[in-house]
Amino acid sequence: MVTKKKIGDRTVFLCDICGLGYADRVTAQECEDYCRAHHGSCSAEISAKAVYLPGAPTLPDRK
Ligand SMILES: [Zn+2]
Repeated sequence: MVTKKKIGDRTVFLCDICGLGYADRVTAQECEDYCRAHHGSCSAEISAKAVYLPGAPTLPDRK
């Protein structure tokens, strides 16, 4: 389930699986669907739209 989170004066939608945040719910849902289907591996195309990265300065290089 996509989580809505307020960061400063912005609202982001977080993928519940990888934790990346997106400016709109539709993209976050796309990411979550992709992550679920690919066992936590993100689509580079989708994650490129992320506006919020939890913790890590770079995306983890997962297989
Ligand atoms: Zn994701």
